[in-house]
Amino acid sequence: MNDNQAILESALEWWDDQSYNDDRWLTFEQKQMLFTKVNTPVGEAGVSYEGKSINEYTWGRGSRVAILWSQMHGNEATATYALHDLLLYLQLYTSESWVQELSRKICLKIIPMVNPDGANRWTRRTAMNIDPNRDAVALQANETQILMERIKRSGAEVAFNLHDQRNLFHLEKTDKSAVISFLAPSADYERSVSPTRRKSMNWISHLQESLKKVHSPGAAKYTDEFYPTAFGENVQKMGLPTILIESGAWPNDPNRNVARRLNFYLLLQACLTLAESHKLDTYTKQAYDDIPLNDNKQWDVLFKNVCIGPERESAVDLGIKFNFFPHKELKQLRYTAVIGDIGDLSNHCALHTIDAEGGWFENGKKLPRLDEVATFEIHQNNGLTKVINGAVVKN
Ligand SMILES: [Zn+2]
Repeated sequence: MNDNQAILESALEWWDDQSYNDDRWLTFEQKQMLFTKVNTPVGEAGVSYEGKSINEYTWGRGSRVAILWSQMHGNEATATYALHDLLLYLQLYTSESWVQELSRKICLKIIPMVNPDGANRWTRRTAMNIDPNRDAVALQANETQILMERIKRSGAEVAFNLHDQRNLFHLEKTDKSAVISFLAPSADYERSVSPTRRKSMNWISHLQESLKKVHSPGAAKYTDEFYPTAFGENVQKMGLPTILIESGAWPNDPNRNVARRLNFYLLLQACLTLAESHKLDTYTKQAYDDIPLNDNKQWDVLFKNVCIGPERESAVDLGIKFNFFPHKELKQLRYTAVIGDIGDLSNHCALHTIDAEGGWFENGKKLPRLDEVATFEIHQNNGLTKVINGAVVKN
C-alpha cells in the first residue's frame, strides 16, 4: 500500500471537517442513533443483563483479522465514537483503491459497546455491579461471557481493548496531558515478555511512532503491573496480542474530541498496518520501553500562589479536580469541582493553571478545606477574582 501517511492525513482532514462535539455520556439509545449512518454488516453478539443488544460489526473480508471492543466500562465512550468515525470513513471512501485493497486483506470485528447497561447509568460497572475488567476469568456477567466468546471465535491476530482514563494522567516528568495511553498487558506476575506480549509491544511502538507525526508529545504508557482477572492480561495469556488504548484529557477539550480524533487516526493506522504486519518486526523492545510512563499529578485546574490563613501568612497551591456525574434531565455529563489538595504542588501540573500572584483566599473563611466545592474568591489589592465551581468568573 502506497503512502499510508498521505491516506492518514487526508482522513484527519475529513475528520476535522465533521465538527464532531458529542457529549462524553453516550447511552445505548444514543449509540444506536449514532450508528444508523453506518451500513457495515452488524449482528447481535448477545444481550446485556437488562436485555440490551450487544452488537458486533464486521468490516472487510480478508484473512487478517483484528477484534476491537469499546465501552466495556459504560462511562468510557471516546473510542466508541472513534470506531463509528472509522466505519463511516471507510464507507464514504469505499470506492478508493486503498479501501478496496484493505477490505480484501483485513477483517475487523468491532463491538462498540460491550456494557450498554453501564453506559445508560454512566458507570464502569454492569447492571449486576460487576466490573467487567475484573471478570475475564470468572465470567460472571453476561457481557463478559459474550465478549470472551466473540474473542475466542474471532480468529483474530490482534485485539484492541479500548478505554477512557481519568483526567489526572500526564506524561511523566512533563506537563503534557496523556491524551492517549497505551499498554501491552502482562500475562503473569513476572511481567514476562512472551512472544505474544512482544508483538503487542511492537504494535504499540509502531502506533506511538505514527501518533507522534500528528501529535508531537505522543502517548504515555501504563506500568505493566499484572491484573490477574483483567481482559487484556487474559487475552494476552491466550496467545492473542492485545493492545490497550486509553483516551484521556486535553486542555479546553471537555468532550475529549482530541482523543477521539487521535483514536480515529490510530485505528485507521492499525487497519493499514494489519494489512502489512511484517513491518512490525523491525521494532526493538527498547522502543516500547522508551515510551514515557503515565504519571497521575495532573489537576483539572491549579491555582498557584494563593495566600491563606488569617494573616495571609502561607502562599500555597490549590489543586482542583472535577468529579463528573450524569445529569439525567440535561442528558449530559456535568461536574462538581472540588479542592483536591492544598500546599506545595510545584511538581504537579494541570489542564488549566492560574497564577493568583499572592492574592488571598476568601469564601467566608480564611482557610480552604479538602473536598470542599471550589467556589471562592481571590482578593488582590487591585481587585477580585471570583471562582465558581472551579471556573474563573470575571467581574
Ligand atoms: Zn476502562
